[in-house]
Amino acid sequence: MSPKFNIAPLQDWPIDTSFPFIISGPCSAESETQVLATAHALKATGKVSLLRAGIWKPRTRPNSFEGIGAPALEWLALAKEETGLPITTEVAKAAHVEACLKAGVDVLWIGARTTVNPFSVQEIADALKGVDIPVIVKNPINPDLQLWIGALERLQLAGIHQLMAMHRGFSSSQKSVYRNDPMWEIPIALMSQHPEVPIICDPSHISGKRELLLPVAQKAFDLGMLGVMIESHPNPEIALSDKEQQVVPSRFQEIIESIHFRRAHSQDINQEEALATLRSRIDEIDKGVIQLLSERMEVASEIGKFKKKHDITILQLERWIEIFNTRSEQAISLGFSKEFITNYLEHLHKESIRMQTEVMNSTKD
Ligand code: PEP
Ligand code: MN
Repeated sequence: MSPKFNIAPLQDWPIDTSFPFIISGPCSAESETQVLATAHALKATGKVSLLRAGIWKPRTRPNSFEGIGAPALEWLALAKEETGLPITTEVAKAAHVEACLKAGVDVLWIGARTTVNPFSVQEIADALKGVDIPVIVKNPINPDLQLWIGALERLQLAGIHQLMAMHRGFSSSQKSVYRNDPMWEIPIALMSQHPEVPIICDPSHISGKRELLLPVAQKAFDLGMLGVMIESHPNPEIALSDKEQQVVPSRFQEIIESIHFRRAHSQDINQEEALATLRSRIDEIDKGVIQLLSERMEVASEIGKFKKKHDITILQLERWIEIFNTRSEQAISLGFSKEFITNYLEHLHKESIRMQTEVMNSTKD
């Protein structure tokens, strides 16, 4: 595990990061009118802590709208002046950082296509040496936690202490309802390994469509994330990028108002005690489950010895298929998801094969 990050307490950051920390604004800054209209409408909702707009847009295909570039920084600066909202935009290279610092951008974010590239992240980190500014690091497009942590480390080594992670989902070859698969286990692993790193979610780029924004945002808060970034546009139908996932500011407000903000702990001692009792049952059950798994592995290793003695292969496809089908059927009838039981059985089988391979390769009997 990498060493703990040294993150400045949130209350000392130059922007209001109090819970829930909410960022909104257009995917791309398209015109001065569009930026100002969005900023004023968002300000009026009273829900926004930070105004976003992409200025340099990393697009998949070259003939897409690639952002207005540096001139749009003036529109953002004007929006900040008129509404009092602090501003943020995405930086992908040193020149972007310099232009943003000159324009008074309050927070920088590193996009998923940049986090993936250590050369680019290092270039940004070098440009930030000696600068005290909050930086939000989106997860890389590929599901690689180390790469995400590595980007945070590069910034930390450059002296950045106002660091935040943003979960925006991962590219996946699997067909899915999401534009980017959330793979919640990855941000959960980041939170478990580095609880000191504040983390927020980007439901817009996970969802890719308006209908999923609320459930994704709700899930992010239910997992203990501190905030969300949701793209908004005065007229999403004519947006120059990401039109399917942008919402008008009034819908953004409805989404935020529909989120159920739950607390990590109950203030009521009786509730905490009731929870502790239920948890002690879970503790006992888990002990039993691990004990049973160990007994199962002992039998698997006995079978391994038998196969070795009689020169039988480790894998017998028909037996594995039978185990897979019967256990899946039982689990699904008990309410488990197909995905869960499949993952479980595959892991179990892999461990059995590992044990039996050890037995086969052992020089003893
Ligand atoms: C964005 O937030 O506009 C963006 C480009 O997102 P990502 O880096 O997550 O693709
Ligand atoms: Mn976007």
